[in-house]
Amino acid sequence: MAPQIDRREPAEVGAGSDEGCPPTGDDGSLHFGTLPHSTRPRRNGRPLKAVEFNVTIPGYVLARSLGRISDAFIYGRASQLRLAERTPPSMPGADWVRIEVDLCGICGSDLGNISYRSSPAMEPFGSFPAVLGHEILGRVVEAGPGVTHVEVGDRVVVDPMLHCEARGWGAGAWCRSCAAGRHATCEKAAEQGPAGSDREGLAPGSTIGYHRDLPGGWGEQMIAHRRQVFPVPDAIPDRVAVLAEPLSIGVHGVLGSRAFQARGPVLVIGSGAIAFATVWALRTLGYGGRVVAQVKRPHEVALAESLGANETVAPGDEARQALIDTGASAYMPVVGDEVYAGGGFEVVFDCVGSRASVSQALRYASPRGRVVVLGCAGQLRKLDLTFLWARELRIEGFVGYGTERWNGRAQHTFEIVLERMAAGPGALADLVTHIFPLKQYRDALRAAYDHRRSEAIKVALAPGSG
Ligand SMILES: [Zn+2]
Ligand SMILES: [Zn+2]
Repeated sequence: MAPQIDRREPAEVGAGSDEGCPPTGDDGSLHFGTLPHSTRPRRNGRPLKAVEFNVTIPGYVLARSLGRISDAFIYGRASQLRLAERTPPSMPGADWVRIEVDLCGICGSDLGNISYRSSPAMEPFGSFPAVLGHEILGRVVEAGPGVTHVEVGDRVVVDPMLHCEARGWGAGAWCRSCAAGRHATCEKAAEQGPAGSDREGLAPGSTIGYHRDLPGGWGEQMIAHRRQVFPVPDAIPDRVAVLAEPLSIGVHGVLGSRAFQARGPVLVIGSGAIAFATVWALRTLGYGGRVVAQVKRPHEVALAESLGANETVAPGDEARQALIDTGASAYMPVVGDEVYAGGGFEVVFDCVGSRASVSQALRYASPRGRVVVLGCAGQLRKLDLTFLWARELRIEGFVGYGTERWNGRAQHTFEIVLERMAAGPGALADLVTHIFPLKQYRDALRAAYDHRRSEAIKVALAPGSG
């Protein structure tokens, strides 16, 4: 029997055992497999519900003055989030599709932005108020006449980052990055798009989910340019398909750094979705060497191993031992942290972006090794860069996805990920640990933020479930 979406009031969710209702967790999250699309109510132009976020200067000031009390900003009283009723977005042109959102993940960058912990450096590349959500799985409900690769009813995932073409620029006016298939670094992201004959240009913004004119996936409905939309093969379950965006970040980092060709061992630091995506990407792209995953909790150990890690270590002594096992020797300077010589990891993926993780990556990399920054590192105080030059390291950063050269073909990162997912979802299904209806977005954010208690890896909202 197909599971049904729980339509009881939030206070009741998780309390009952009505036949046909999905089992619910202690936190009220829904646990179901494929979503029952056929049970969707029809929407006859009624307002659509969505979770909106606004960036305000008082918000920045208050967050900075309160320091580490960020839970209040994420799901508490100080939050600049609200469940809004919005008119459906209008289609900017013939090349756009309208999508009803089935699932949308909560990203660490969402928590960072909501709590104002992210660096303000990226603020000009968004526009607010915005409906959040950039890890989007949905169904096409309308396709413009210029769209040929998907049709109404198709299940799709969305590359949320905007190409110059989606902003409305003709091919001759595309920026260098977009012309080269690297739209994640679009150089016009802070500019208003060109105005059409009957409409204003699109607001600035690099990404759907941080864009005033293009609502993200924490809402019932959104629109996307045809370039951004990828059909999902039937073999991929919803709770795996919704991971296309974060998995693409791991694949883009592994392909961009050529880590899949490394000869030495690789260390992946972090226990968020991007870290697991990186472990998966290393294996699915053919890296055959030793992968050490630095994670903290038992369920993370099991997940990292099932995705292909040879060894899992806790931060601290266990991680140090893994470094020593590569042949490194430890030395103690007169003051400061222990340092190492010999051995080391050829590639270290930092999927955290903190001072501690970047510092560890610099000390654990082998001479001429690479530190790949996939975590959203911002302002890091007292970071010691000594080993950057003393070990001739390279630090590389990657963002998003784009056109990859892989297996002799030019493919979008999402296409590679969808192919690999269809070949065998395997342990990927275990990454989505919690699914909440939209109206319980604060509970969802609490589960994502307080992941030590909730044991969340990826939390998703199901906007179609009420
Ligand atoms: Zn993200
Ligand atoms: Zn561009």
